[in-house]
Amino acid sequence: MSAQPASGTAPSATAEPKPIVVHGVDTTAQTQCAHWHSARDIIAIRHACCGEYYACISCHEALASHAAAVWRRADWDTTKAVLCGSCRAQLTIAEYLACESTCPRCQAAFNPGCARHYDLYFEKQDPALGAGEASKA
Ligand SMILES: [Zn+2]
Ligand SMILES: [Zn+2]
Ligand SMILES: [Zn+2]
Repeated sequence: MSAQPASGTAPSATAEPKPIVVHGVDTTAQTQCAHWHSARDIIAIRHACCGEYYACISCHEALASHAAAVWRRADWDTTKAVLCGSCRAQLTIAEYLACESTCPRCQAAFNPGCARHYDLYFEKQDPALGAGEASKA
């Protein structure tokens, strides 16, 4: 009874895709959280500041020790920043904004009320009249 056989754990042998970690307060498997937990609150959002998925911006506020940043429009087409908690598909911001609150992959219904909070996560769209003053470089 002396030496353990050193078999089994070779760190780089298998390259399994890492499961996506969604941070949040009391998150469920479908990414609902303590703040948003209806049957349709099933998306998580990756934040531009840290690149991590959080169930919502209040979860980010509670758990991250920095201010949240929004995604710039230049990133919308290429950045996968929305996770469907139902099928675990990652959508680009453009895909999400165009999906009309239905997952394009699994047809799960998203909360349409999220549209009221887009500007917390995504750079504001210019108002049609150009009266906005919020374009800092
Ligand atoms: Zn962050
Ligand atoms: Zn939350
Ligand atoms: Zn889905």
